[in-house]
Amino acid sequence: MNEEALDLLFQAGRIAARVKERIYSLVKEGVKLVEVCEAVEMMIESEGGKPAFPCNVCVDEVAAHYSPLPDDQSTIPPNALVKVDLGVHIDGYIVDTAISVSLSKEKQPLVAAAEEALRAAVKFIKAGTRLGEIGAVIQSTIQKAGFKPIKNLTGHEISRYNLHGGASIPNIAIPDIRRVAKGAVYAIEPFVSFANAAGEVVNADASTIFRLDVKKVPMAKLKLDEKALVEYIDENFKGLPYSPRWLRASKVPDPLGVHERLVKTGRIHKYPVLVEKRRQPVAQAECTVYVEENGCRVLT
Ligand code: MN
Ligand code: MN
Repeated sequence: MNEEALDLLFQAGRIAARVKERIYSLVKEGVKLVEVCEAVEMMIESEGGKPAFPCNVCVDEVAAHYSPLPDDQSTIPPNALVKVDLGVHIDGYIVDTAISVSLSKEKQPLVAAAEEALRAAVKFIKAGTRLGEIGAVIQSTIQKAGFKPIKNLTGHEISRYNLHGGASIPNIAIPDIRRVAKGAVYAIEPFVSFANAAGEVVNADASTIFRLDVKKVPMAKLKLDEKALVEYIDENFKGLPYSPRWLRASKVPDPLGVHERLVKTGRIHKYPVLVEKRRQPVAQAECTVYVEENGCRVLT
């Protein structure tokens, strides 16, 4: 990355850090999930960034990929463990970060363990670190706290306009001997559940987040309104994940209906909501780092 690109990336990181600090005061029992989401997305825009994906607000056993749909009336229940995961990009230079807020004393230790595992991984990572070793550090930190990592959720390399571009950072010790490169950008994100959890997530039926790869869409086969919506999505989100909430700003008549048709016919990629297999609560901590010779710089 050249200096200009780095500058934009670091700027996105500072925006994400500022927005993240303000989430704690938003998460309260009875607040609509969509309110938290839209507040976060608006803050990102007012700070001069763009959401790199729909703000995720995941409650308890819902581990990831839940962002309220336009008609979602659900609220934060009592004693909830709430994860808020947000992405910021400037001109395609993306950062990805998340926090967990526990409204329950019993679940709070999961949050502490996720944060501790993230701190340990951040301290450990530098140019040349093996991916599997980072997973081992995360796993052992979580297990020492008496909990279990979610083995099939991982951190990930980030590249321009590509949220999951390249290698994954495991949350458990696996024999991945590939090394982290100097100058690479990684999101590190431990997920933690109780010891009696399955330690893995499974797909729920619902999907609330979508992505369009315009190169894979047979434009000639689409109806006019479908074509117009595909063009809107491509122009505005450029291959990054988006929420149907964001389609209401398009000038296409009945954008949500048209979108549903596109999804049903397989034109658009959907991300299933991910839930803990034994429905145990999950905590997450995430930051984005820029890898340097002797360590890393936390951007978010
Ligand atoms: Mn994230
Ligand atoms: Mn991530």
